[in-house]
Order: sequence, then C-alpha cells, then structure tokens
Amino acid sequence: MSEAIKLFIEDARAVSIEEAAKIMRLTFKRTGVEHPQPCPHCFGTDTFSFNTKKEKWNCRAGGIGGNDAIGMAAHCEGLDIKSREGLLEACSIVLDRDIPDEGERESNEDRAARKKRLEERRLQNQADAATRADSQADFREKERAKARGIIKAATVLRSVAAPPLGRSYLQHRCNSFPDASWLRVGANVSYWHGQDERGGPLELYSGPAIVAPFIGRGLVEIGCHITWVDLHQPPKFRPLLFGLTKKGLACGLVDWVFGDAPPLAIDLADGLYEQLPTKKMRGSKKGGLIPIAGNPDARRWVGGEGVENGTAFGVWEGWRGDSFYFAAGDLGNLSGPAEPSSRFAHPMLKKPDAKGVERPVMVAGPVPKRDQDADDAMWVADHVDELVLLADGDSERVMTAAAMARARARHARPRRIIPIVWPRAGYDFSRMAVETGE
Ligand SMILES: [Zn+2]
Repeated sequence: MSEAIKLFIEDARAVSIEEAAKIMRLTFKRTGVEHPQPCPHCFGTDTFSFNTKKEKWNCRAGGIGGNDAIGMAAHCEGLDIKSREGLLEACSIVLDRDIPDEGERESNEDRAARKKRLEERRLQNQADAATRADSQADFREKERAKARGIIKAATVLRSVAAPPLGRSYLQHRCNSFPDASWLRVGANVSYWHGQDERGGPLELYSGPAIVAPFIGRGLVEIGCHITWVDLHQPPKFRPLLFGLTKKGLACGLVDWVFGDAPPLAIDLADGLYEQLPTKKMRGSKKGGLIPIAGNPDARRWVGGEGVENGTAFGVWEGWRGDSFYFAAGDLGNLSGPAEPSSRFAHPMLKKPDAKGVERPVMVAGPVPKRDQDADDAMWVADHVDELVLLADGDSERVMTAAAMARARARHARPRRIIPIVWPRAGYDFSRMAVETGE
C-alpha cells in the first residue's frame, strides 16, 4: 500500500461521526445528540441512528453498528470494507475527496513531508481516540450516577409512603401491582426535552412517575426506566406531551409548552409537532433488565418488553412464588441484534424507497448475530431453567415473531426451556388484563 493511500486512510479515521454525517447529508434532529432516521441502505422508519456524543452509529434493520465514520459510510452506501476497494471508497466518502492516484511519482522532498504528516496524523488519531474513550466513559458514569439519584429519590411503590398514583396506574393498566420493592414512584420527576436559550437542557414537564432500576449481573444498578403517569389520560394513563419538529420550526411555529392545548390534529399529521414518548431511560440499559417482582435467584423467569405486560402476566398467574418477573425495556434488549444474513423481506409490507419505488420492508432475522457482546441483550442468570418470554401482540406480527425467535435462540442453554407466550391477536397482556378485570 502506498504512503499516499495510508495517509488517506489515516485521514479518514480522524473524521468524526458528526463530520461524516454532514458530508453524507444525513438528517440531524434539531436538538440532542441522537439522530434517528430511516436507514439509507435498509429503509424503514427510524431504523438507523447516529450519536454525535457517543461517536456511535447503529442500524436496527441491518443488525449492525459501530463507532467510526468509515463503517457508517460503508453501511449506508452498501460497501464492503473488508475489500480494499470498499474501504477506499468509504474513506473517500467521509473525506469528501477522491482516492489518491497510486501511479503518481513524487519527489523525495514531497515524500519526506508526507511521511512526517502521516506520522503526526497517526499520533493525533491515537490521542483523539484516547480522549474520546475517556469522555465516553465519563459521560456514561455521569448518566449512571444521575440514574441512581433518580432511583434513590423515589419511594418504593408498594409502601404506604409512596404517592398512590403508581399503584393506581398499575391497577388501571394491569389489574393490580406487585407486592415487591423493585418498582418505585417519584412524586415529581423532571422530563427534559429540547434546550433553553443558553443551550442547556429544558424541563418541559415535571410530574409523578414510576421509576424502575435497570440492573446488570450482580444486581448492580446501571440505569433507570421512567414512566410518567397521568390518571386523567385514559387509556394509557400517561401525560400528553408534545414537541415542535424540525419541520415545524422551519415553518415558523413556536415550541409547545406544557399547559398549552394539544397541537391541532392536522399539524401532528403533517409532522409539524410530534407526540413525545412518556417513557424514558437514563444511564445504561443494554445488557440490563428491569426487575418487577420476585428474586433473580428463582429458576423460572418471566418477562417481555414492558413493565406493564410483565406485571399483567404476573397478576394473571398469581405472582408464582417460584418465579422472577422482569422487563427488558425494549425488544432489542430482549432479543439482541440479528445476524445480517438472516434479514428477510416482509411477506406483505412494502415501503417506497428514496426514488419512490415500492420495496418490501426488510425485517431483522431470527438468527442472533455471531460474536456479539455479552451486553448486546439482557442478561439471564445461568441457573434459570425456564425462561417464559412474553410477546407483544399489538406490535407488527412478523417483526415481533422474528425477534422472539431470536431471543429464544440467544438465551438457549442446555436443559433450559424457553416458551414464548402470545396474547390474543391485536392485544397485549396489559389490555387483556384490563378487559378481564372489568
Ligand atoms: Zn441499514
């Protein structure tokens, strides 16, 4: 490999995710560091995302991700970076520069100057990478500390001292609540969204919320999961919060403030405002799980994506004494990433691509990704010999089925049985519990 090419690759390695995303004209959200969008290669909605603070990108549809701009460019453009051509092409994209011509001859002087530059660049890259790793670790540790602070400030849900709202919420959504001390309730938990004039985080709302820890192996608290509650908002009993979108801002609309009337339905449909999620997490989630009831020492574990479904199922089977009930937080953390080659076309669903041509929606496959990290999916204790997985019946069926099959394969061990339980079609366990309880 010529020096010119080596320098070219080193230069490309120094390009940050943010710089590359700008060159590639990827979409940036108006605020924040996480920028979800359809994958330029796999399509879908919000399948692809990059994070400018953590220097990471990820494609849920392709089951792939990484922490460098070259890899991101290669995935978006369908290049194979294991091949020399693919790698150079990806470098050329992130640098917005042509691949240097290897045939050109150069003077000794030029050569010496370039070697020096190459060496400097290499050292700078090493230093930058070390700084980035430090600041990432710092950021993660700060977030974990904040999460532990939120958990500590909340009161155990079942205790009489806790705001009764938490119990009422689970009563409404799941027909009862667990007699366990994992779940907590905060009387006034801040909901951060957007930025104030000085660029600091903005508290859009503050109110009662169920606070659950995310625990890793060894029961270490690695993060927390927050569900804001508003008993005046059936059927989900969660507050209605809205945010101005980039499109809305471009149209000259003003931010939505809590206390304002909800945006007009037509503005929501046009994507000028968006309804904001009323569940959030702080700290780390990956590899952890949310305990709901029982003790992780149990040999039978029962859980799915959300706290509500796990609770509803626990209520339904009478909180078995031999079982531990949990939630994974989301489907990705329940099932882990897919092996890219197991990706398949959805048998029915189609979506127009960038050129308006209808193409089948691609679904992450049932085979777990090879060589994945231990924390790519929730942990399951080695002693568990029955793992009951609860499927979400109101999510897209094919995608959910593939993910549940992947979860079963991922968590499979000799002598462990893993039944997958489906609610009635079109339902989740929470809604079934509510209708049974009425
Ligand atoms: Zn993709």
